[in-house]
Amino acid sequence: MSLNAAKELKAVLPLEEQLTITRALVKQELSPLTVKIDLEGLYPESFLRQLGGVDGYRQHLSMARPDGETDMGAAIQTMGAVSHECLSTGFAVWCQDTCAWYLQNAANPVVRDAWLPKLASGEVLGGTGMSNTMKAFANIEPLRLKGKRVDGGYIVNGSLPWVSNLGENHVFGTLFALEGSENQTIMALVDCSAEGFTLRQSAHFTALEGTRTFACFFENVFIPDEMIIDDDGAAFLKRARAGIVLLQLGMGVGNVQSCIDLCREVEPLLGHVNGYLDDRPDELQEELDDAVDACMALAEDPFEKSEEFFREVLQLRLSAGELALRASQSAMLHTGAKGYLRTAPAQRKLRESYFVAIVTPAIKHLRKELDALSRAA
Ligand SMILES: Cc1cc2nc3c(=O)[nH]c(=O)nc-3n(C[C@H](O)[C@H](O)[C@H](O)COP(=O)(O)OP(=O)(O)OC[C@H]3O[C@@H](n4cnc5c(N)ncnc54)[C@H](O)[C@@H]3O)c2cc1C
Repeated sequence: MSLNAAKELKAVLPLEEQLTITRALVKQELSPLTVKIDLEGLYPESFLRQLGGVDGYRQHLSMARPDGETDMGAAIQTMGAVSHECLSTGFAVWCQDTCAWYLQNAANPVVRDAWLPKLASGEVLGGTGMSNTMKAFANIEPLRLKGKRVDGGYIVNGSLPWVSNLGENHVFGTLFALEGSENQTIMALVDCSAEGFTLRQSAHFTALEGTRTFACFFENVFIPDEMIIDDDGAAFLKRARAGIVLLQLGMGVGNVQSCIDLCREVEPLLGHVNGYLDDRPDELQEELDDAVDACMALAEDPFEKSEEFFREVLQLRLSAGELALRASQSAMLHTGAKGYLRTAPAQRKLRESYFVAIVTPAIKHLRKELDALSRAA
């Protein structure tokens, strides 16, 4: 980013102030919508844009801050505050944060300077079509998108089954294989309004329905050089991967904390019998606090590229998925029949927690990668 552009950036809010404002915004604007988001698939666009206005997406983006700092821990805590109320919206925040993270890590300053400020402020909303990429790099499935070099850009074909936080004027980051080359892959930003590109709502989900998740079809979509993030996709992924996975911990932290809070809420009424359950709130809180400490320590250096560092990130991400499943089951058992009501938070948290466990990298994917890393060591 040019020096003049950097000078024009507004200072970010101090973390405590930003978290206080985020929690107030969640209470006022998001809480009244949570049940509609969950049961009717309402997409909380107004909330997502307002969150951008209070620096909700900017903390981890040194290129969008005048002080040039990268506070990944702050981005995780902000996402945690949103996910505590609604994981569907917390995931949309992850999509936005991660799409902006791709630009922060772009090798091409043209795409970065054109789009990063708009994503950081929430003026443009964005997503990430990278499950397929991450699974392909872990030898779970082949890449689904292929591009051919043409004058001034690439022609891309293929499809992605699920990409969230999308709409007509949204963008998302994805990676495609270069036709005619042995292994070269290209990382690009896709404009959903590009000719030949179609969004199709082909599925409904048992949770996370308010995330505007679409199947994406590319039919001879021209992606100009100005939208290329890096023409060395593997090098890009190595740079960006720790941040991508670390950011997901915001969803886990928010989900687990909200389950613990639900268990505690019923303690005055049911503590005399809930004491016979496993995974009591104080035990879960201790595990969560340890995980948050470990997360904040790793979040201090999200640009670290070593395999050992990435192994630690994957291990923590795995623990977060497993803890979310235990915490949500505990919330169900602690709240009993009341938690089983159709609009009760406990049963919603249960369905949401499975998303923490299955979104790429899913628990099985994480165990596969950790196994491969330990064999290679
Ligand atoms: C609500 C929701 C939102 C999502 N949002 C996004 C998003 O924004 N961006 C994104 O990139 N992804 C998104 N995903 C996808 C998600 O991250 C996971 O990739 C997905 O849930 C499946 O992951 P998995 O590891 O369980 O794969 P699995 O379901 O286990 O499948 C692994 C792979 O094996 C192959 N496979 C599986 N079954 C068969 C079969 N019967 N025949 C042939 N091949 C098969 C497929 O290639 C498949 O992708 C979303 C998913 C959901 C449910």
